[in-house]
This record gives sequence, C-alpha cells and structure tokens, in this order.
Amino acid sequence: MALMLSLVLAAGIAIWQLRQGAVADTEDDNHRLGVVLAEQTTRTLQAVDFVLREMSDKIIDSGVDDLNVLHKIFGGLDVHQALARRLVDLPQVIGFTIVDSSGHLVNLSRKWPVPDYSVADRAYFQYFAATADPNPYISEPAIARTSGEKAIFLVRRITGLNGTFLGVLVAPIRLDYFDTFFAKTGFSDGTGVSIVRRDGLILVHFPGSDLRPGTRIPTKLSWYDLVASGGGHYRLANTFADLGPTFVSVHPLKHYPVVVDVVRTQAAALARWFRQAIAIAAGVLSASISLALLLRALTRQVAISEASQDQISRQVKALQASETLLATTLEHMNQGLIMIDATGMMLICNKRAIELLDLPVDMMAAYPRAADVIEYVRQRDDVLACSEPPLDMGLVLDNQACYERRRPNGTVLEVRTAPLPDGGLVRTFTDITARAAAEAMLGLAASHDQLTGLANRNGFNTRLDATLAAARRGNPEVAVLCLDLDRFKAVNDTLGHDAGDQLLVLAAQRMREIARVTDIIGRLGGDEFAIILPATNLAGAEQVSRRLLESIRMPYILGTERARIGVSIGIAIYPTDGGTAEQLLRNADTALYKAKAAGRNTFCAYATEDGQREQHRVQLEQDFRTAVELAQFSLAYQPICDAATSEPVAFEALLRWNHPKRGAVPPSDFIPIAEQTGLIISLGRWVIEVACAEAAAWALPLRIAINLSPAQFRDQDLLSFIRDVLSRTGLAPTRLDLEVTEGLLLEDVADIVKTMQALRSVGVRMVLDDFGTAHANLSYLRGFPFDAVKIDRSFLRALNSDRQARALVEAMLAMAGALGLDVIGEGVETPEQLTLLCLLQCRWVQGFLLGRPAPSEETRELIWNRAANNPRGDKAVRLPRATHR
Ligand code: C2E
Ligand code: CA
Ligand code: CA
Repeated sequence: MALMLSLVLAAGIAIWQLRQGAVADTEDDNHRLGVVLAEQTTRTLQAVDFVLREMSDKIIDSGVDDLNVLHKIFGGLDVHQALARRLVDLPQVIGFTIVDSSGHLVNLSRKWPVPDYSVADRAYFQYFAATADPNPYISEPAIARTSGEKAIFLVRRITGLNGTFLGVLVAPIRLDYFDTFFAKTGFSDGTGVSIVRRDGLILVHFPGSDLRPGTRIPTKLSWYDLVASGGGHYRLANTFADLGPTFVSVHPLKHYPVVVDVVRTQAAALARWFRQAIAIAAGVLSASISLALLLRALTRQVAISEASQDQISRQVKALQASETLLATTLEHMNQGLIMIDATGMMLICNKRAIELLDLPVDMMAAYPRAADVIEYVRQRDDVLACSEPPLDMGLVLDNQACYERRRPNGTVLEVRTAPLPDGGLVRTFTDITARAAAEAMLGLAASHDQLTGLANRNGFNTRLDATLAAARRGNPEVAVLCLDLDRFKAVNDTLGHDAGDQLLVLAAQRMREIARVTDIIGRLGGDEFAIILPATNLAGAEQVSRRLLESIRMPYILGTERARIGVSIGIAIYPTDGGTAEQLLRNADTALYKAKAAGRNTFCAYATEDGQREQHRVQLEQDFRTAVELAQFSLAYQPICDAATSEPVAFEALLRWNHPKRGAVPPSDFIPIAEQTGLIISLGRWVIEVACAEAAAWALPLRIAINLSPAQFRDQDLLSFIRDVLSRTGLAPTRLDLEVTEGLLLEDVADIVKTMQALRSVGVRMVLDDFGTAHANLSYLRGFPFDAVKIDRSFLRALNSDRQARALVEAMLAMAGALGLDVIGEGVETPEQLTLLCLLQCRWVQGFLLGRPAPSEETRELIWNRAANNPRGDKAVRLPRATHR
C-alpha cells in the first residue's frame, strides 16, 4: 500500500510540476509575444501619429489662431495633396482629416473638394474641445464616413500657442489592418491577441471570437490593476467570453492609451501537459493494478501458508499424542516387543523385551543394529544353549511366524513375527513358561509311544520338521530311515501279544543302542519304525542300516521262547530326496517297499526313478483292488508232460489278470502287489478253489499244480481251507500239487516243515518251484519234505550252449534222484532241450514246446480228446508217489 501510495504521490507531484512548468512556459510565451506585438502596435500608431504631429506642428508654426485663417492656409489643394501623399506609405490609415474648432472639416486626404460636414458630434471632438490633452486620443471602433470601413480613430488636439483650441487632427486606422497583420504573425491554436483601450474597451481581437470589438473588459478583473502597474499576467478562471479558463498577458503601450493582451486558453496551454499527465496516470494506474494483483496473490499465498501451518501444527500435535500413547503402551505391555526396520536397525525394543531377553539397557537405548544384538546374544551363549530352532533369537528375518523358544534360565517364550510393508518386522515375545510346563505334561503323552518310550508318529513328525528347519539354515544333510520288522506278525500270532510287545520293546532298545544321542527314533505304528539321522549323508545312513540289520536279526528271548525277526529299511536323504518331512517319509517308505521286494532283511536307498515306479505301483495297487472286487481274474492251465511220450500228466494253474485298459497284466507285476497288500491270501484262496473245481471236472484224473506265495503258506488256516476245498470239489488230495519257492525256506524252518508235513499227510504233494535260482543248495533241501523240484527255466535256456549249465542240471538230477525227488524240467521250448532232458533222465517236462498256458475250456477240450483217444489214459499219467519218507 505504501508503495502504491508513494507511486501515486510521485506521479501527482510530477504531474503538478509539469503543469506548473506548462503554466510558466505559457506565461513566458505570452509575454514574449505580447512584447513583440505591443512594439509592433506602437510602431503602427507612431507612424500615423508622426503625420498628425507633423501637421499639428505646421499649423502651430504658421501662427494660425483663428478659424478662418486655418481654413485659408490649410484648406487648399496643396495641403490636400500633401496629405494624400502621406497615405502612400501608410496602408493602415484610411485618410487624414483636419477639423476646425467648430467641428467642420478643413481638409482631408480622401476627397477634393472638401465636403462640408461636421464631426462635432463625435466623442473625440467633444473630448478635445473640453480637454487640453496633449496626448493622442483613440476612439472606439466606428465606421469611417469617407470610406465606410470599420476603423478606430487616432486623434490629436491642435492647440494654439496661447493654449487656444484650434481643432483636431484625425486619422482613421483600418481595423482590417490589424487582422491581416496578426494573421501574418501566425498564432498557435488557442492563442489570441486583443488590442484594448486603457479604459477596457476592446478595439481589436484576433482571431474572431466572442470578444467582439466594442465590448468591455469587466471592471472586476485584475486587468485594470495590471494596466495601471505597467503590465503582467493574470489568469481568468472564466472569461466573459466563451474561451473557458485562459492565461492573459497584459502589455500597456507607453505612448498610446492602448493595451495589447495576449490570451491563451488553458485548454491549449495545458494540452501537452494533459497528454503527459494522462500517460503518467495510465502508467501509474497499470502499475497500481499490477501491484494490487500482486498484493492479492501474496495475500492469498500468505493465507494458504498460514492455513497449512495451522494444519501441520495440528498434525504434529496428533503425532506427538500417538507417540506418547505408543511409548506408554510399549512400556506397560506384558509382552516384549521389538521392531526392526528394513535396513536392520532395531528401532524399538521395549522394557519387557529387555527383561525377557536379558539385553543390556544401554545397548538397546542406542538403536543398535539387529545383527549386533544377535551377535551379543550368541556370545553370551544364550541361543546356542537352547537346542530348539531357530538359532537367530528371532531377530533375523526368519519366515516362521510363530514358534517357542526356551531360554537357558528355563523361561519359555512364544515368539511371533509380523512383517512390515516396508520390509522390516515386528516381533513379540510372550512369557509362556507356565503354559508350556502344563503342556509338556500333556504333550509328552501326545508325542510319545507308551510302549517303547520312543516318539510316536505325531512326535516324530514334529521333530522331523524341527530338524529340517535347522538343517535349512545350516544346510547339512539329514537321513530318514523307515524300518519294517520282518516276520513280526508271525511272532505276534504264535507267541501272543505280550511276547509281541516285549519283542517291540527289545527291538526299540537295540535301535537306541545303535543310534547316536542326537538321532531321533519313532515308532509310527505296529512294527513300523523310523529314525532321523541329523547331519548324515547316504554313506552314513547305509552304515547305520547295516548295523541295524545285524543287531535286529539276533535272536530274542521272550520269556521261555526264542524268536528271530528281520528288518527291512528304506532310506531317504534330505535335501536330495525331498525338501519336506512328508516327502522324505513317503520316499523312505518307497525305498522300504523296494527293500521288502528285494527279499527282506535288507536296506534300500530311495532313487528318483523309484518315484515313477512307485507311482505306477500305487496305480496298479488301486486297480488291483478293484480287480479283486470285479473278478477280473481268470486261470490258465499249462500242461506238465511225460518227457518220453509228451503226454500231459498234470496242468499248472497260472493266474491271469485281464486289466480293462492294460490288457493281460503279467503275474510278475501283480503278484508282488498282492503279496504286499495282503490280498494274496484271499486271491490265493480263490485260485485254489477254482483250480480244484476245474480239475475235478476234467475227463481224466490228471493232477493240478497250484502256486502258493510264502504269505499264503504262513496262513494258519491254509490246511483247513484246503481240506475244505478238496471235500467240497470232490478232488482227490493226491491230484493236488502245491508249488512253493525257495524264498519260503528262509523263514522260520520249523513252522514251514510243520505245515508241509500236515499237507502231505492229507495226500497233497509239495513241489519246490524255480529250483536253482536262490541260494538254497540241495543239502539244505534235505530238511524239507518235498515231493518234487522244478528246475528253473534259466538252466534249460543255457543247456545247449553252456557246458557248466549242463553239468549243473546233471548234478541236480542226480542229487534229486538220490533224495527220491521227482524232477520237472521247466521252460522247454525246443526239441533239442527236450531230447537233452530225456538223455539226462529227466522224466517230466513243462514248456511252450509241449503246451502254452490255455484257458479252461481249451484245456477241458484237450483232456476230453485225450480221454476219448486213450481210455486207459488215467494209468499212463499217474505219477508214482515219491517213495522216500
Ligand atoms: P512259475 O510258477 O514258474 O510258472 C511258470 C511260468 O513260466 C509261467 O509264467 C509260464 O507261462 C511260463 N512258462 C512256461 N513254459 C515256458 C516256456 O517254455 N518258456 C518261457 N519263457 N516261459 C514258460 P506266468 O504265467 O507268467 O507266471 C509267472 C509266475 O507267476 C509263476 O512262475 C508263478 O511264480 C507266479 N504265479 C502264477 N500264478 C500264480 C498263482 O495262482 N499264485 C501264485 N502265488 N503265484 C502264481
Ligand atoms: Ca509254478
Ligand atoms: Ca517255475
């Protein structure tokens, strides 16, 4: 505002000064012009006046003192001519006139002869008749009689030597003359000039205006004072004429009663100033507007910033309040709380956290780096002292959201973590010592097996999770072993549950003895066990497995009884065989199946291809269960013939699975599944039932050979079941052969011998199948009551080319003969093989050469045809009963 004010003030002063200057300039100009014009006017009058004075002097010098004399001397033609001559040089003058004291003309320049008329009525005549004024007189404008032109009259008195009034000399001066003269001078706009008689009567005004000659300057104006004081300036606020305010410069002539006025209208005088003032005012105005706008914008800005200042201060207050609230809450909460930002700075660590974690107060006050705090805790041996994971005290960005931590002083803390959006984290510590103690009591029961004191499945899984979590940080390998006791069920069934339990305890004991303290043993159920071996690779796991096999197969004393069991072990290694507890356990289990399939009492490591095989197996197993339900099974019958005549003496029943999608699935694929799943018992019974019924329906009383799995053979009810089937189907027991493999002989010898003897006592024959493939030698066979052996087809295949094979077959035949056993050569495919077997005294043969396995109808037909061709066929095919024992 001050700036605007001073701007306006400065502009005002400038405008005022400019105006003053303009006024002064106008007055100066007027004055100079006035001086010049006054001088000029004086000269114009003087030139005329000179003629008048000359004439006057002549009249006086001539001594005239009487009216008549005057006429006589000066009324003549010569004077007239002299006067007329004078007119030549004075264009302003209309003429010269000599008037006598009575008012009558004496002579005049314009006319001859002199007309007779009187000017006694004229004011100038009356003035001079009355007054002896030696100065010239100037009349008001009037019409000159001689020419009819408008003029003013310059008049002088002719005064005789004694002072007598002789008359007047008159010279009318054309008013036109002045107009012409002024016009030549060239005034600027708004400027005018007046010739005024001293008494205020205007004689001439140029240019023409309301100031008409003949009007009078009002007496109230200071003009009169200025004339009296010899000239000067004055300002007319309002002229008597229509010029508006004017500046007037007043110049009285010295020798004549005339004043020259230079008049300039204020409008003209100040026109330039006015334009300048407008320009300045406009400048100031626009500057002021700009300034005002600027001022307004500034005011607004200030208002806004004041408002935001206000808001900020409110926010700061709110922030301070929430900070106080936070600080108070943090200090009084029952939980320890720390906050670590994304850069690893520990920004918050409340009092309770310091107490619970036993941290140094001054260290925590200085916003330490989390890494430094961890290092401090590590050095104090706090974390290392607790075996539970994780090892970072919950300060590292661990992904576990919640876990428990036991401190060396016995306190149990629940550690919870919440990640912050910016990458940091908040972690709380709750003292749950009391709760943990209560839980420990209950938890022990929930996580431990009552019988062995080992971890149960639940406990084992928890420990495995924990071990893997620790391993993930340190990255060592972890071995997981799955164990399955072989033949435990047999012990349990024969010796009773108490003995079974005792056996489990003892087995667990042996496992404990072999395991290290850090290893974790669990009983997952029944005779299933599992062991975690932390920081152990495959080689280490295999070594442990070997020792377990050795230890567990040692005999057990159960009360008064002695028992032997074996163990099958599957191995999976973290992280190669799986990253999670679930995967590892599953894969160790797959390896366990492999170990069992490989003949039990051994161990197997998991291999990735096992996974696919396992998948296939699982699928097949599922299908198999449906197959059992839907009865997709059938039997094929393959003849066993007399080597000399090639006549069938018996048929072997071979199981067939017609899979709806896969077609005929070979028994080698599904029999192991049936064995593993235990379905072999019922399936086997079905085979016995169907085969016996079929054989009973045959046209000839040929023998039927049925294969038995070891599991079937261990079945306590086998004997009674077979008795039952035989009586139901009406098949003579002597027509039934039961084939078992060498694998069976590795199991509990006494049991098997007992069952075999029982079967034989009924009349059933026992045949050892696939002889020569396993380790059993013939002398070992001596202990078992077999009726016949089947030499495995792998020997027959090699018979032609391999001399050693031939020697072996010869030896087998000789030994079998010595033991009183029948020998059946299996897999005879070529006539050469048959000839050779005949040569070697092998009486019975089986193979594609003699007949492929065929469906029951085909077989029935074949037998029917034989019966028709050879009515005494029954004698021919009857096998002699083994004679020994
Ligand atoms: P296995 O008891 O040794 O049965 C003889 C197998 O040899 C049959 O295979 C048969 O088709 C095949 N074979 C017979 N002659 C020849 C020949 O000249 N050359 C060749 N290369 N092979 C010949 P299959 O039917 O595939 O049976 C395989 C095995 O499955 C059987 O071997 C037996 O151990 C088992 N099996 C079959 N049926 C049953 C059953 O009902 N119960 C049980 N527990 N096992 C069975
Ligand atoms: Ca067989
Ligand atoms: Ca065989």
